[in-house]
Amino acid sequence: MITTGQIIRCKAAVAWEAGKPLVMEEVEVAPPQKHEVRIKILFTSLCHTDVYFWEAKGQTPLFPRIFGHEAGGIVESVGEGMTDLAPGDHVLPIFTGECGDCRHCHSEESNMCDLLRINTERGGMIHDGESRFSIDGKPIYHFVGTSTFSEYTVVHSGQVAKINPEAPLDKVCIVSCGLSTGLGATLNVAKPKKGQSVAIFGLGAVGLAAAEGARMAGAGRIIGVDLNPKRFEEAKKFGVTEFVNPKDHDKPVQQVIAEMTDGGVDRSVECTGSVQAMIQAFECVHDGWGVAVLVGVPSKDDAFKTHPMNLLNERTLKGTFFGNYKPKTDIPGVVEQYMNKELEVEKFITHTVPFSEINKAFDYMLKGEGIRCIITMGA
Ligand code: NAD
Ligand code: ZN
Repeated sequence: MITTGQIIRCKAAVAWEAGKPLVMEEVEVAPPQKHEVRIKILFTSLCHTDVYFWEAKGQTPLFPRIFGHEAGGIVESVGEGMTDLAPGDHVLPIFTGECGDCRHCHSEESNMCDLLRINTERGGMIHDGESRFSIDGKPIYHFVGTSTFSEYTVVHSGQVAKINPEAPLDKVCIVSCGLSTGLGATLNVAKPKKGQSVAIFGLGAVGLAAAEGARMAGAGRIIGVDLNPKRFEEAKKFGVTEFVNPKDHDKPVQQVIAEMTDGGVDRSVECTGSVQAMIQAFECVHDGWGVAVLVGVPSKDDAFKTHPMNLLNERTLKGTFFGNYKPKTDIPGVVEQYMNKELEVEKFITHTVPFSEINKAFDYMLKGEGIRCIITMGA
């Protein structure tokens, strides 16, 4: 059946209200407009960023909305002006984009594209501000330009990485957010030197990918910090050898880490979303050379407070979206690293659910069970 240029009716998991279970609905998905592609999503997974905006505690609520940004699929049709993508291409939609033309896209140092950088407040497409999803004519908002909790979605082509068609989409879908974010935060931003110590705050998929990056960089010690002791067993598979649960100590965790490491770790990567953990991750790096990288998404009203002397003492504080990877340029290469067996993806995947049971994936994340849950569309 030719669907090009037609409205597609398909299933989507719609969030009608903050914190309420998603509801399976039949939605209408409009054809892609200029510089857009319509993608048939085959696999998606749940990242904590979806959960924050669905809970909408400390974030701007925007409902009804279709969440989801970690996914893999196949291009169904393309809009006007498309040269680099065609129907049948295997792709990963990505929450932050690369227009290829702006100063950021031309800079080797930045992936913060002027046009397509992550925007959690936008509910429509850049081209016309409108939504491509509707139910009985009522628009449903997009989320970070990807909205992958739908059998079909429309995405700006600058937010689509074309990958090796041999790569199994049920695995590499997690490269589209969590895995690349953590890996890049360590390899591209924290840049530990061989033998150095690295502390990872938060041992979910993002943190464990950061640990994987530390292992690949040849870190000497990888210290995992988490409030959930269940995480420690899983983290051993990712080269994390020492664990600190802040709840087990009366002293601040910065001090615990400083005592373990003769003054502080060389690098730290924060992957929790807790502003307290962000401050701890910064204050636990060694003076003189320590570098801390923030990855977790804070609440809207959070403020980072530390004594300026911590900076004067030659500690560096950085932050990153998507591990500083440029989505279109770099992500096909991360998928190749997996294909060449330099990167293990399977060990991040602990659960699989059919699309009809997507709410279970939310339960697992809220209970802190497992790492990533793959949601199989069409099932
Ligand atoms: P997750 O829920 O799977 O893992 C987070 C872990 O942090 C959990 O194990 C939790 O127990 C732990 N944690 C929470 N508060 C803590 C604290 N105060 N101290 C120590 N540990 C604590 O989440 P995830 O999907 O791995 O995402 C991690 C974070 O990264 C989230 O904030 C998410 O929004 C963010 N994120 C950022 C980017 C980016 O580009 N910057 C991309 C993806 C995800
Ligand atoms: Zn994510």
